[in-house]
Amino acid sequence: MTSLTSRIDAELQRLRSAGLYISPRVLEAPQRPITRVLGREVVNLASNNYLGFADHPFLKERARQFLETWGAGVGAVRTIAGTLSIHEDFETQLAEFKGTGSALVLHSGFTTNQGVLGSLLQEGDLVVSDELNHASIIDGLRLAKATKKVFKHKDMQDLERVLLENPTDGLKLIVTDGVFSMDGDIAPLDKIVEIARRYGAVTYVDDAHGSGVLGEAGRGTVHHFGFEHADDVIQIGTLSKAWGVVGGYAAGTRDLRDLLINKARPFLFSTGHPPAVVGALSAAVELIQREPHIMETLWDNTRYFKAELSRLGFDTFGSETPITPVIFGETGAAFEASRLLLERGVFAVGIGFPTVPRGSARIRNIVTAAHTRDMLDRALAAYEAVGRELGVVAG
Ligand SMILES: *Cc1c(COP(=O)(O)O)cnc(C)c1O
Repeated sequence: MTSLTSRIDAELQRLRSAGLYISPRVLEAPQRPITRVLGREVVNLASNNYLGFADHPFLKERARQFLETWGAGVGAVRTIAGTLSIHEDFETQLAEFKGTGSALVLHSGFTTNQGVLGSLLQEGDLVVSDELNHASIIDGLRLAKATKKVFKHKDMQDLERVLLENPTDGLKLIVTDGVFSMDGDIAPLDKIVEIARRYGAVTYVDDAHGSGVLGEAGRGTVHHFGFEHADDVIQIGTLSKAWGVVGGYAAGTRDLRDLLINKARPFLFSTGHPPAVVGALSAAVELIQREPHIMETLWDNTRYFKAELSRLGFDTFGSETPITPVIFGETGAAFEASRLLLERGVFAVGIGFPTVPRGSARIRNIVTAAHTRDMLDRALAAYEAVGRELGVVAG
């Protein structure tokens, strides 16, 4: 018989010996470009807060208004009595922004993948998924009865091979991240959609890291490639990264929205977002359109930070977006670099095997619109010192 304590002990032991044990860093101040970690003031390069919206006064003010007017919670799942007019108003606002006919908001990006993939896929269908897709796609596909195949990262020949080798009369779905979260590279959507059309497949884009970052005023990767009106391209994303709050969305046709309302289990069986969340999100989508310079600052900072890292001799792994990996090689070296950076007032997290392949352990930096040049220069000075100390750059 297995006791609870022996199960927990054994599992923790297994995680520790596999180097997978995590203890989260705690921020002792709000999510800002300068925050506090382990009692030290640090330049924060660890968040997904691309636009600096997590702590933005405009979002906080709208959240306060909605809290006062509409209350702290909604008291029911969306399909029973938990849909307030503010939920639907925000979905209309989001659909208009995205240029799609319709949008549905779910609790998070994670549950959106579960809900949408689970609602669409049936036995006899084929799903073809990029090998570097996010964990929530992998978990969402676990729930689906379709045949699941993986293609090599952004490898269009391999994608075609998988489609050729797996003919079906069912639905064919090609699933890809819009922007890949570990390398910061962009999916070749133009090529993927072209191949999808030749094989009668639908393209499904998880745009968690592209939304608020790519496309006009942050309309996302699908907009960046001009497919927002295509009814054979489905986009899902998160409201938790660039939009600074929490939530997920699926954007597509009105019928897709209707299907999800009726079938997506995380939507059907979990209570809707509280009014303060809806308020902050509606302010976020409004703000980015009113003040497009916020996105320009994000990209100015991104270009500056990458160029300076390269000048110092660091390898940023061909990243094309604000996600800026700095390669340190072995996992131990990346973790050591993260620790040394923290000592020098920079908060950036090391990522190693198995999250990324062996030998490409890295620190993943995310530059935001809220960083000033001075903050980035402080971070670069720390990188230079740590890179020399670890022998990663010449000095
Ligand atoms: C972060 C992320 C998610 C999860 O989004 P949450 O809103 O935080 O649940 C889903 N997909 C991708 C590609 C992500 O990067």
